[in-house]
Amino acid sequence: MLKSRFQVLAKHAGLRARGLTTINTRRSLQRATTTLLLGGASAAVAAYLLLPDISRGAPTRDNIPLSPSHFTPAKLVSSTITSSGTKILTVAIPPELLPKGSDLFAPIWSVFIKDDDIQVERPYTPLDRVDENGNMKFWIKRYQHGEVSRWLYSKQVGDTIEIRGPLKTWSWKDGAWDEIILISGGTGITPFYQLLGTVFSSNSSFQGRITLLHSSRTPSELPPRDILDPLLKFAQHNPEKFRLKFFVDSFGETKGQSSLDLEVHKGRIGKDSICGALHSTSRAPWWRSLFSQDSDVSDRKILFLVCGPEQMVEAIAGPYGRNYSQGPVGGVLRSLGYKSRQVWKL
Ligand SMILES: Cc1cc2nc3c(=O)[nH]c(=O)nc-3n(C[C@H](O)[C@H](O)[C@H](O)COP(=O)(O)OP(=O)(O)OC[C@H]3O[C@@H](n4cnc5c(N)ncnc54)[C@H](O)[C@@H]3O)c2cc1C
Repeated sequence: MLKSRFQVLAKHAGLRARGLTTINTRRSLQRATTTLLLGGASAAVAAYLLLPDISRGAPTRDNIPLSPSHFTPAKLVSSTITSSGTKILTVAIPPELLPKGSDLFAPIWSVFIKDDDIQVERPYTPLDRVDENGNMKFWIKRYQHGEVSRWLYSKQVGDTIEIRGPLKTWSWKDGAWDEIILISGGTGITPFYQLLGTVFSSNSSFQGRITLLHSSRTPSELPPRDILDPLLKFAQHNPEKFRLKFFVDSFGETKGQSSLDLEVHKGRIGKDSICGALHSTSRAPWWRSLFSQDSDVSDRKILFLVCGPEQMVEAIAGPYGRNYSQGPVGGVLRSLGYKSRQVWKL
């Protein structure tokens, strides 16, 4: 989460495009399609992000619509402490400065917020679509030595915050996957909340299954009710399509599960929880798995999206590669036989 996910995306998309020229079998074409969906849809953003860093010189404009090429002044209209070191912030863009085009705010998108004291920007993921009043809601975490997060956390209602975007972090495609497993830690849940909001509250024809596995260090650091309640409702209304499971490293100061009104499991997300989340739809004979676990799972239209602290992403999906590429699949997902076209580290 702290790594520049945009750089990761940019490099990955470039490598993918080159790899596609040698593909010629039907199976490979299917894989290529998935790969294109993963990387290709982001290519425009990637190309844009590979260009020289325009942010340094990006001007501030308050008379043309919000765009990645300039900063737009927005007002902080509400700020609520959600746990020690996290807040929900609502930032309002003047409605007349909202760009037209519904695709711009299709998941998963983020914006850059600029710390204008030191002229440094960082990306943040709005929880929902921008509403008609131009409101964007964020769940942000303050890092002890973090530059922008401490500045943002200290902002007061009425303060001006400069924003540029929207920028696509990853593109959702209805029907591309039968099963999606979302794995998040801490504020890494924000892109998944945004995605789930679109999948389950709009007219999406999604017919697959999504499971969210989320972990926080302690119950008090779990996402706030503003995030939990809508997710629990989606699960309640779509039991065949959406499930979610929460994990904590320890119960901390709470008296364990009995004192919580949410089912929470103690321990880290690992092989058992990931295997438990998977819906087995394999039509291959059972004995095939004795010889090749790979041939089973790597054929399935299954996707893992992983977002969280770097150590968590590494343990589940392997480290990012050199120069911010996605890197090969490692960690738990590799040991389960999943391939890079099935795994995306946000
Ligand atoms: C696409 C995207 C979307 C994101 N969405 C969100 C979101 O919705 N909410 C959210 O809270 N975050 C989000 N992030 C993370 C966010 O962009 C920032 O990375 C985060 O707020 C930390 O930024 P910072 O400037 O405060 O920290 P940095 O100054 O970049 O520091 C990062 C970390 O390194 C540590 N550090 C800093 N300097 C040193 C040093 N000299 N030695 C050792 N350690 C050091 C800091 O303590 C901190 O833990 C997102 C990131 C991406 C890429």
